[in-house]
Amino acid sequence: MKPIIGINCDYGESGKQPYSFTYRNYSEAVIAACGIPLLLPVIKDKNDVERFLKRIDGLLLTGGNDVPPQRYGEERHQKTVCVHPDKDISDNILVGAALQIKKPILAICYGVQLVNVVLGGSLIQDIPSEGISFLVHKDLRNEQYTHPVTVGKNSLLHKIIGTECIETNSVHHQAIHELGKGLTATAHTSDGITEAVELGEYPFLLGVQWHPERMTHDPYHRALFSALVEASKQ
Ligand code: MN
Repeated sequence: MKPIIGINCDYGESGKQPYSFTYRNYSEAVIAACGIPLLLPVIKDKNDVERFLKRIDGLLLTGGNDVPPQRYGEERHQKTVCVHPDKDISDNILVGAALQIKKPILAICYGVQLVNVVLGGSLIQDIPSEGISFLVHKDLRNEQYTHPVTVGKNSLLHKIIGTECIETNSVHHQAIHELGKGLTATAHTSDGITEAVELGEYPFLLGVQWHPERMTHDPYHRALFSALVEASKQ
């Protein structure tokens, strides 16, 4: 039976009416991997989120704006653009509750940063401002931009894609700084930026800093969604 994969949404403000949304490529990647996507709008009630979680088999955490730095004890950097306060509350409840009942999770971009912060980690608020990287991680002029990522052997990511070097897109200006409790960084760019994490002693938690849903023409990136769907069958 196809597992149901919950996907968290964001608020959209343009147009005549405000709306809930997630980009189509997330749900299409789940469908292509033989899962059934189920969209979760911003909900701030813990009991309601917990009931939603009971109905799904796995969770896909989407990209978005930035985690409010107060969550990891920092002042907001001028380049940091926080998610809406309602979404922040909703996402924190969602991730906390999902981790507690050990739902399989694939976390993308803001999603992996969110998981890291929920687990007590911190973020680099703006990679270019910190001057810590010689690589471009966000090129606004070129959406097709990619960089090579080195994948640690014996990692979950390596098990899924079966290679130690993968070319990924890169549209992030933040990155993981201190790792959250239990997380291991399993892939990096040559400048030392963390590009993937996993959670030991957990059924399935993979977080990636890039956007595999925008690269599903490539079997390596499709494999991440297949791995989530497979893990969600158990
Ligand atoms: Mn990158």
